[in-house]
Amino acid sequence: MPEIKYWHTLKIREIESILETDVKAGLHPKQAGNRLIHFGPNELEEKKKPSPLQIFLSQFKDFLVYVLIVAIIVSGLVLRELVDALAISAILILNAILGFVQEFRAEKAMEALKRLTAPTAKVIRLGQEVEISAEEVVPGDLTILETGDHVPADARIIECIAFATDESALTGESQPVNKHTEPISNRLLPLGDRKNMVYMGTAVARGKAKAVVVATGKSTEMGQIAGMLQIAEEKTPLQKELKRVGKRIAVLCLLVCFIVFLSGILRGFSWALMFLAAVSLAVAAIPEGLPAVVTVTLALGVQNMAKKNAIVRRLHAVETLGSATAICTDKTGTLTKNQMTVKLIYFEDKMWELTDEGRLKIHGKEAAPSEDLMLLFKIAALCNDARIRDGKPIGDPTDGALLIAAEKVGLGKDALEKRAPCLNEIPFDSERKRMTTVHKLVDGLWSMVYGKKTDEPVYVALVKGAPEVILARCSSIHRGGSIKSLSEEERKRLLHKNGGMARRGYRVLAMAYREFSEPPEIEPEALERDLTFVGLVGMTDPPRSEVYEAIKTCHKANVQAVMITGDHKLTAETVAREISLLDRKQIITGTELKEMSERELTSRIEEIAVYARVDPRDKIKIIKAFKNRGHIVGMTGDGVNDAPAVKMADIGIAMGIAGTDVTKEASDITLADDNFATIVTAIREGRLIFDNIKKFILFLLSCNVSEVLTMFLAMIAGFPLPLLPVQILWINFVTDGLPALALGVDPPAPDLMDRPPRRIGEGILAKEKQLQILWQGLILTLGALFAFMAGLFWLKVPLRGAQSMVFTALVLAQILHTLNFRCERHSVFTFHSLANKSLLAAIWGSIILHLGVLYIPPLQSIFHTTFLGAREWGIILTASLVPLIIIDAIRNIARK
Ligand code: ADP
Ligand code: MG
Repeated sequence: MPEIKYWHTLKIREIESILETDVKAGLHPKQAGNRLIHFGPNELEEKKKPSPLQIFLSQFKDFLVYVLIVAIIVSGLVLRELVDALAISAILILNAILGFVQEFRAEKAMEALKRLTAPTAKVIRLGQEVEISAEEVVPGDLTILETGDHVPADARIIECIAFATDESALTGESQPVNKHTEPISNRLLPLGDRKNMVYMGTAVARGKAKAVVVATGKSTEMGQIAGMLQIAEEKTPLQKELKRVGKRIAVLCLLVCFIVFLSGILRGFSWALMFLAAVSLAVAAIPEGLPAVVTVTLALGVQNMAKKNAIVRRLHAVETLGSATAICTDKTGTLTKNQMTVKLIYFEDKMWELTDEGRLKIHGKEAAPSEDLMLLFKIAALCNDARIRDGKPIGDPTDGALLIAAEKVGLGKDALEKRAPCLNEIPFDSERKRMTTVHKLVDGLWSMVYGKKTDEPVYVALVKGAPEVILARCSSIHRGGSIKSLSEEERKRLLHKNGGMARRGYRVLAMAYREFSEPPEIEPEALERDLTFVGLVGMTDPPRSEVYEAIKTCHKANVQAVMITGDHKLTAETVAREISLLDRKQIITGTELKEMSERELTSRIEEIAVYARVDPRDKIKIIKAFKNRGHIVGMTGDGVNDAPAVKMADIGIAMGIAGTDVTKEASDITLADDNFATIVTAIREGRLIFDNIKKFILFLLSCNVSEVLTMFLAMIAGFPLPLLPVQILWINFVTDGLPALALGVDPPAPDLMDRPPRRIGEGILAKEKQLQILWQGLILTLGALFAFMAGLFWLKVPLRGAQSMVFTALVLAQILHTLNFRCERHSVFTFHSLANKSLLAAIWGSIILHLGVLYIPPLQSIFHTTFLGAREWGIILTASLVPLIIIDAIRNIARK
């Protein structure tokens, strides 16, 4: 296939033959497979992933570890302390393996996440529309583009209706560019003027089109602009806080370690021993690995959320979710099932019911529909963007419901379209609240209705939409087979009927039409006026069953749930009451909202639970008001118009099924099932993840404090060295390992969703928490020093024995200390503290490991430990259990 740069000049037939494709049936899947191999995946650049070896080696990149390695080599070679050198090296490697495993898991988790959020494309292959990963698009593919879609590759348009794209990402042009299909002769035209082409990286602003892909991956225009698309991975607030605080902790630790070193030298200990001890202490105490552990926990949490249908696109959303105080949600499809069914038809003063079996009834009695009533169904089926495949509607659910209703009364869309081909369309959007199509009537489909026979071609605009909007544009009404003028009185009566249907929870649409003898201009204001009203259609959409419970959870968790809908106020009110969302709160309409100032809305924002007949732009105002009140607000969206609001919210939530690419891209979270209950689940997960991160950070830091303080106080007090370098590193390995990991996956506290959200900006390491780390660390230290002194002065064991006692006491105390973090509301000495099975396993596992170090002779010589007898154990248990009891007691008092 030749490299061609002037696709815009070619005729469609030429393109077809150059690309060896078929503009009707698309490529054969086999052909596409071969091309994928030949042209490579449709992506801009393969990201180089770090190899496992690189991840492993990066564990040693820390400066202090370098110092320690040098110290090991020196002590090994010069001082001939070979065993020590080997032991320290071994622990360093163990630590590196631990870090490697965590980082590798994080990497894998993040990769899985990227796959979940990978863009897709709609293509026609072998005559069938299929959705494939955008990466698999190849030259010659026939792609289908609709409002809100991302253009997957560079392509030449072959069919389009009212089609325009947003090319700002490529050309900087901020206005949508209208497109057409005609060849353009000027070869050297700039990209922005090649109006029969679409380009990768741009998005469909409106309309729909079919286009043949001419270039993929790096050969696209976007691919030529290298470097532009490198998106830096943004750190979450928590990660930033850790980085900031981590530096301070590091400096403090280095200072203390230096003092330990200096006082040891002054006291006459050997240089080499003190240097190793101080550096080991620094390596152990400085929480270098913390950011990685946090990332792992976040990433694993995110994976967990994905299993529950909440797909996180931006990591920081996990943290924000935990502090969400308000969730604004769409009604249709999110709170409701999105299984719309047409039930009522109001036509010529009669209310018809449409049964599931397709029978039409009036007041419960079956009645035969008139030819005129069929007119209404014809409009419903023709002015429609959905399709039916295998008996199921695809596309907009409202349109789908109308199509199904038309099929029930025997009207198939395909057959209708043969008699009335669609010439043009102004698609539905939530702002206009209506949709119009223009048709050419070929064989009297329309005139049959009037009973008059004419052979002249007739053009007709079919309009459907919200009744108020449509009625305001109607000047006549279809009645008794002809067009009558519409009196003001009649209009009021129809609006009243609409209200009555809405109050029963129905979504109501009005149908209307207008005839032309010439093909009309597709200009909304000119086209959609002087319409002839035909009738009203009412459809139901029951609430999702999980929503009731989810709303209750929101109430308990102090998260304000707000419904935003384009539907009629009365429809919204009925649904909101049914799911107890209204709950003594108010409901206002878009019109009322527009009249309110931002200040007024801000002062009332907490009293309003439902916004009806709003358009997507109003969402911005609602978000602003919530933000003014200090809320952390989540906002859902699906259409292109929702993207700005989704972007502006603290937590932008896009619909995975109904959502457009553009909205998904703007969002922080995508709901795979479009379900409100999933948002609440995500909030819960967000709270859980944050809780657990907090647990192990506080745990690890208080343990580190205890290690540093034990060494520091002993040195200051003039004691011998309480812990040897290998021992310090071992303590760090045992407690940073299994117990901390187990805390990271701690099961939720029972009150997780019964308490108010965490205040945003309240860092994990606020003053009060720093204080907690210090006093808890100090109590653990006192236990360890008690064991040391009791061993030295009371049992009068040799130094090596006393060191073994401190060593063991500190390990035990730290491991048991994990129990203090299990549940903020409960004492350690309740069943709650035992509910985390993996934590219990981690505790036992660590104890067994440590017993090995104490009692296996070769390890004894490596770790300089001795056998411990019953008296020593008595002291060790006292030194590790009493701190647990004291810390628990203080926590109990503080809680009251
Ligand atoms: P929601 O926020 O509940 O999804 P929309 O903004 O989609 O509401 O719809 C608002 C109103 O527009 C509906 O009450 C209905 O009258 C009308 N409407 C909805 N979908 C369509 C459609 N596909 N074509 C024409 N009108 C529609
Ligand atoms: Mg909608």
